[in-house]
Amino acid sequence: LTAPGQLFEMEEVEVGGNKIRAWKHAPATFRALLEITRFHGDKVFVAFEDERITYEEHFRLAATLANRLVDDYGVRKGDRVAVAMRNYPEWIVSFSAVLAAGAVAVPLNAWWTEQELEYGLADSGAKVLIADGERARRLPNTAIPTIVTRDENANWAEVLGEVRADVTLPAVEVGPDDPATIFYTSGTTGRSKGALGSHRNLGQAPMTVAYAMLRSVALAGKDPGEAAGVRRITLLTVPLFHVTGCFAVLMTTMFTGGGLVLMYKWDPQRALELIQREKVTVMSGVPTNAWQLLSHPALRDYDISSLGSISYGGAPAPPKLLERITRLLPNRTPANGYGMTETTALAIYNSGKDYLAKPESIGLPLAVVDVKVCDPAGAELPPGQVGELCMRGPIVIMGYWGKPEATAETFVDGWLHTGDLARLDEEGYVYIVDRAKDMVIRGGENVYCAEVEAALFEHPAVDDAAVIGIPDDELGEEVGAVVRLKPGAEATGEELQDFLRGRIAAFKVPVRFWFREAELPRNPGGKILKTHLRKETLGL
Ligand code: AMP
Repeated sequence: LTAPGQLFEMEEVEVGGNKIRAWKHAPATFRALLEITRFHGDKVFVAFEDERITYEEHFRLAATLANRLVDDYGVRKGDRVAVAMRNYPEWIVSFSAVLAAGAVAVPLNAWWTEQELEYGLADSGAKVLIADGERARRLPNTAIPTIVTRDENANWAEVLGEVRADVTLPAVEVGPDDPATIFYTSGTTGRSKGALGSHRNLGQAPMTVAYAMLRSVALAGKDPGEAAGVRRITLLTVPLFHVTGCFAVLMTTMFTGGGLVLMYKWDPQRALELIQREKVTVMSGVPTNAWQLLSHPALRDYDISSLGSISYGGAPAPPKLLERITRLLPNRTPANGYGMTETTALAIYNSGKDYLAKPESIGLPLAVVDVKVCDPAGAELPPGQVGELCMRGPIVIMGYWGKPEATAETFVDGWLHTGDLARLDEEGYVYIVDRAKDMVIRGGENVYCAEVEAALFEHPAVDDAAVIGIPDDELGEEVGAVVRLKPGAEATGEELQDFLRGRIAAFKVPVRFWFREAELPRNPGGKILKTHLRKETLGL
């Protein structure tokens, strides 16, 4: 990152019939990115507990598994291979192997229940599943051939077979417009939609993040040359099965040759220990991670002087968080990134002195990203007016897997309609005002209200139900439900929670219930008036 002028050259490319700006020197495919990582050879790539994997070791492991997928499992270009694991090094090796084999990687949410996992496997039409022991046991009846990685009863080394020093990638031609990934994002209709990303998306995303990092250095008034001399060691605080973990952190680490410190699960005390022990320079995650780290009573007991920046995104960052960072960790660069699964990670970014000057803003679009704010008819609105935020660029995904209608609705002439309500100021800074989509973001994890409501409706005592977000300092929002029971029927909040736990992942289960006898407020079209309901219920 020493010659930004040269490295960050842009060119015009045609994607799906639309001309857009893209990074000229971004890796064209995952295989190109993987080849680049070989230059980093024996530098440590992944640190997990006491395990270390260098870049060269990672290449050999991934290439070995890629060959096994092709030779033993018959995986061919375009086949889908699901990966269901916690944040283990094997997640990274598996993801790399699937892509290196020319197949499409389908990361599944590790917190999903059996039903949800089965849905992901069936919807994506996965040919093979690579899972850790816990996930594999959660799917006792799956008909899909399963490779078990980390488990007391399985030996991963045996599963892999011999890892040769001269292993090469399987022969397959992959281009930038070939599909690379399917990430599941909750759907407004109740079921998850697979966000289909291309190899171009995958290569452009780390370049976009690297550009944001460099901007961040400049905005912090630091010397980019000096900053480039410090090897980035990033603490991964979020799951790899979301785009923030996978693209903003993992792919960017690979692209820049940095080190990645994996956390099996988020724990602020453990994070402090790891920052001290591994000399972490960047902490990346959701606002909740930063909030919990800064609120931890042991914050002062650890030497975290290596930490140069704290960045977060994926959910609204309360201005109180920025105030806390500047007070407790002065001279660290805070950064707020906005992105979504459909933008392969970061698209709009606020950091350093810009962020201090405009703490309510999510910042400026990153160089290859165009934004506009539109009225419901699709007409562009001038600065100051609130409308739907739309984005265009090489990181905007191809569409939804097997869902042409949802794709046509969300991607119009190359513009992604985000479902977020925003305004721009005169200088082009973006402000998220509200969410048009009916969703709660709990600690960075999206919960689509429709999905929880649909699960509640399956309970025989429930007549009507609406899920709402309850403001929460730590998590941003918690999930709450307003329920109307059928006449004469009885059910407690606890009973409903128990009922939901078997059906939807634990993070989606409401923590509070309000029972009411009156009908839920609806508009003439039958849609529940959530703002009205929130006001009535929470007084907000
Ligand atoms: P996901 O697809 O799970 O990454 O969720 C994307 C959604 O999270 C966006 O559409 C926004 O509603 C929200 N979001 C992401 N980043 C931010 C941010 N920095 N500030 C506010 N909301 C955000």
